Amino acid sequence: MTDTTTPPAGLPTGIRHWIGGDLVDSVSGRTFDVADPVTNTPYAEAAAGGPADVDRAVAAARAAFPAWSALGNRERADVLNRIADAVEARHEQLAAFESFDSGLPITQARGQARRAAENFRYFADVIVALGEEAFRQGGSQISYVVRTPVGVAGLITPWNTPFMLESWKLAPALASGCTLVLKPAEWTPLSASLWPEIFAEAGLPAGAVNIVHGIGEEAGQALVDHPGVPLISFTGSTDTGKHIIRSSAEHLKTTSMELGGKSPVVLFADADLEAALDSVVFGVFSLNGERCTAGSRVLVERPVYEEFTRRLAERAERVKVGPPADPATEVGALVHPEHYARVLDYVAIGKKEAKLVAGGSRPVHLEAGNYLQPTVFADVPSDARIFQEEIFGPVVCVTPFDTEAEAVELANATRYGLAAYVWTSDLKRGHRVAHAVETGMLWINSHNVRDLRTPFGGVKASGVGREGGAHSIDFYTESKIVHVALGDVHTPRFGAAS
Ligand code: NAD
Repeated sequence: MTDTTTPPAGLPTGIRHWIGGDLVDSVSGRTFDVADPVTNTPYAEAAAGGPADVDRAVAAARAAFPAWSALGNRERADVLNRIADAVEARHEQLAAFESFDSGLPITQARGQARRAAENFRYFADVIVALGEEAFRQGGSQISYVVRTPVGVAGLITPWNTPFMLESWKLAPALASGCTLVLKPAEWTPLSASLWPEIFAEAGLPAGAVNIVHGIGEEAGQALVDHPGVPLISFTGSTDTGKHIIRSSAEHLKTTSMELGGKSPVVLFADADLEAALDSVVFGVFSLNGERCTAGSRVLVERPVYEEFTRRLAERAERVKVGPPADPATEVGALVHPEHYARVLDYVAIGKKEAKLVAGGSRPVHLEAGNYLQPTVFADVPSDARIFQEEIFGPVVCVTPFDTEAEAVELANATRYGLAAYVWTSDLKRGHRVAHAVETGMLWINSHNVRDLRTPFGGVKASGVGREGGAHSIDFYTESKIVHVALGDVHTPRFGAAS
């Protein structure tokens, strides 16, 4: 039988910064407590970084920059592939740490660990294949692009799927030739404590990656404010993103913002309802519903509305909520008591705004820990707070519609625009709706299946800019254009007339 109560082997009691290749405490000596979401009791103390620690980390990254950025693309790619090897070699430990610290079901944490390794392999391939553009004007001029890494990148990441999202930024930044400072989320620093040994094993030069742990308003803010960091890649909430853009304006930093979502699923009556049901359930309840691209508003065409809502509610009631370490668990524990309380507040609001048809409370068999039975609200009006605001937990809204135009209007009726999903067997309508929905990413007849080459990001309050594939390399590099005259250049001769 699976032991779901013992903490994973090798759990540290102290988590330190990693600066210039050394594990170090904060200059101030301060720490903060880190707890797991099942017992909500601290298991470790992490170094609480501030401006002095960020300053040291930026200095280390600056010192490492000339050598790292001067390497050939193939040499950097070799290091990235060795990082992927080292991640894969720690697959089980990594998944166990992530599951323990964040509450993600272990089977899903394993999938995220695999994706982290894949990110490094993918960006290794990208830079090896990368060329630079050239533009020729007949025999008179040729212009070519020279890409240079931006310098020291500042990476700030959230607590949902923390290790994978860190890899999503680390891999392209390193591939591009940047060195960097990473500030992981304070609720989930455990998996990031494995990066130092991974990077050391892969032979990454000291200082190329530096990790400063700490509270967002202290360590994160210090990174955003540091004049030696010209670029910030941020994934997190919309409010924090806005604040970071305002702070970054002081130094005119380049920023990339991957922010919140309230993604619609538009389900037409002619869709494959079985497939749509599986997809809706997985799309909103996987990763505990703590997923930026969760399809958390399901818009259903009237003729199938009642049947679909009833079946969705039945499935939600049967989703297995349980200890994150149990391989049978489908929804684990929400990351932190503060977040759990916030999600429960939304459930209470939803009970006043709409009809609760599934879940809505802690499963009876789980007396402690941040657990919530997957929750379905039906007949949700579009002005309800649970329709408009990101809940970031296992909670879904269902709303009926009568016409395609109304479906599009409802899909676009929030401030967010990260992902969207359309279910129909009508090819023309699928494309039509895809083009009309305000979103950065849209899937027809599928849940979120990513192709790493494609642009990732949102519109409206869901983000600014795109990462993914070549977009990530564009973000971490500056393009310089060099114009070369190939023949005589016609130049008006000012001042030459007698
Ligand atoms: P958050 O904004 O609270 O925190 C994200 C990170 O920012 C953390 O590391 C935090 O310490 C740091 N931070 C907080 N204040 C800061 C400041 N003043 N200066 C610099 N850094 C600061 O977000 P969260 O609660 O950790 O994550 C959940 C949010 O992330 C959700 O809204 C979710 O949709 C979003 N998210 C978006 C994507 C995407 O790709 N669009 C992916 C995952 C998560």
